[in-house]
Amino acid sequence: MTQSDFASLGLCAPLLAALKARGYDTPTPIQQRAIPLLLDDRDLLGIAQTGTGKTAAFALPILHRLFVTEKKPLQPRSARALVLAPTRELAAQIAASFEAYGRHLRPSVSVVVGGVKHNPQVRALARGVDVLVATPGRLLDHLQGGTLRLDRTEIVVLDEADHMLDLGFLVPIRRILAKLPKSRQTLFFSATMPKDIGALARDMLTDPVEVSVAPVATTAERVDQSVYLVDAAGKRSLLVELLRQPGYERTLVFTRTKHGADKVTRHL
Ligand code: AMP
Repeated sequence: MTQSDFASLGLCAPLLAALKARGYDTPTPIQQRAIPLLLDDRDLLGIAQTGTGKTAAFALPILHRLFVTEKKPLQPRSARALVLAPTRELAAQIAASFEAYGRHLRPSVSVVVGGVKHNPQVRALARGVDVLVATPGRLLDHLQGGTLRLDRTEIVVLDEADHMLDLGFLVPIRRILAKLPKSRQTLFFSATMPKDIGALARDMLTDPVEVSVAPVATTAERVDQSVYLVDAAGKRSLLVELLRQPGYERTLVFTRTKHGADKVTRHL
């Protein structure tokens, strides 16, 4: 594949400036392939994991479309673009990406997720938003309560569809889909494509282009890695010593077996 920069993909200057400020100069493979297709209004079936740059692959063309090709005023209790995500954490990250890439376009971005108060979300939706990032359960509450309507939504994204189905969101997703206009752009991302996901994708997408990228095998740039060579007998005390260091606030420890995990847990 030839290398190219973001400008050659057709993105507008305010987005290019935001990308430059973040230090992105080369699109990742999914960005390279998906962005021109999405700017061309196509539906997309993206088979890609987190770490491939898929968030920017959908956020950039959505912002371009909302602010350049289809500039429109906001409508009360409506969202121009809707992104469904499986967890609160992912929803917050996606919203932060839209805000970062859109810093010169100033989109209104709202997050609607469970486990937090309802009323601030109602107020945020009242005037309408450019981009709404939501988990399916709470979104459905707002639809049923009349605090949100989706009949004017132009673009919908399902992110980590396989993860959402694992969490039991199939029924809420189908109910949400029923409220969306037939004429819309739909983007569907999943790391895996088992039968039930394929069926959902087929129902949602119209003549989609399929973009599949290999998972990234490398570690994220911001992760430092180190190796400690110790005897098996010294591993636990080294772990305790490391965990006592002030930089270790939240730590994931991986073990090879379930039994090993139990032993480490008991020791800690
Ligand atoms: P994602 O797969 O969307 O979760 O993105 C993985 C990480 O890659 C995020 O931390 C992004 O900020 C970063 N990223 C996305 N696209 C690029 C790019 N073209 N150049 C450098 N970093 C990127």
